[in-house]
Amino acid sequence: MIPFISQLPEPEQATWIAALNQALPNERIVHISDMPAAKKLHCQLAIVANPDIRQLTEFENLLWLHSVWAGVENLMISLADSAIEVVRLIDPILSQTMAEAVLAWSLYLHRDMPLYAKQQQSQHWQQHPHLLASDRRIGILGLGELGQASAEQLKKNGFKVMGWSRTAKTMANIATYSGADGLTEMLKQSDILVCLLPLTSATQGLINKTLLMQLPKSSRIINFARGGIINTPELLHMLELGHISHAVLDVFDHEPLSVNSELWQHPNITVLPHISAPTNLNSACEIVAKNITRFRITGEIPQSVDKINGY
Ligand code: NAP
Repeated sequence: MIPFISQLPEPEQATWIAALNQALPNERIVHISDMPAAKKLHCQLAIVANPDIRQLTEFENLLWLHSVWAGVENLMISLADSAIEVVRLIDPILSQTMAEAVLAWSLYLHRDMPLYAKQQQSQHWQQHPHLLASDRRIGILGLGELGQASAEQLKKNGFKVMGWSRTAKTMANIATYSGADGLTEMLKQSDILVCLLPLTSATQGLINKTLLMQLPKSSRIINFARGGIINTPELLHMLELGHISHAVLDVFDHEPLSVNSELWQHPNITVLPHISAPTNLNSACEIVAKNITRFRITGEIPQSVDKINGY
């Protein structure tokens, strides 16, 4: 028996459990409340979707968790001192979904859609100069599973693409940077900055006034990673100064975004309800099934998240 542990609404949990059982016909995946206490004691692994850490306390012999989400920031904080390994979802379909979102919203900013939408509201007819994609420089913070797929997609669509990561990387026709100096170098050339970093102690509040000041005047930003990476008051200040002309935000410190948040009404912010890359049920179940089947045969826990780096 493998428990599915999450805080998702019950119908969604039922959908996941049914799909996982279909993908793993030799296992029995159950809702946490359907698992007898004695079984919980012997359980080595659980499938999770952002669970409340208190839901794990009865599972004294857990070795690892398989997350059906790619982002496991909350789990890494809660389990920092625990021996339980966390395996996150690495799914090429999810990476493509994110790459599509990065392309869509980069085009939105590149083709000045926020500006033309405002002009329409005031029945104002004005054409602005058009910049070729090959002259638009897009910098990506984070060159992991999602960052690399997004960089490739932007490149295919003719943009000038750069990327920054913790360790040095090489990518064909994409300028890559690492370290503090590399960040400065990339920022000063980024007309659009896309954030695809994980939220860790090193990236918390990284996008602040000091970082934003290094971008060219009137640049635009997209945050598809985690709300905590942006210092929101400082972003608002930079928008007010016009140093940043528009921000597309899909993720926030507290979700759902409070109805009282000033971000909703801000003329230069596009608010999205965390939709840039939703997990695909079918491909995720297939990947989870492969990993669990391999574990049953070999006893090998799939590559887990590094507890020291937090991602
Ligand atoms: P990943 O494969 O772990 O890649 C993370 C990238 O960030 C790596 O390139 C890593 O550098 C870089 N990085 C980490 N810490 C850094 C630091 N301190 N300085 C510079 N670079 C740093 O993660 P992923 O799968 O691409 O996912 C990224 C994030 O996207 C997730 O953590 C999650 O928060 C978010 N996400 C959002 C959605 C959504 O719908 N909005 C959906 C899925 C995921 P190295 O390559 O050197 O290790």
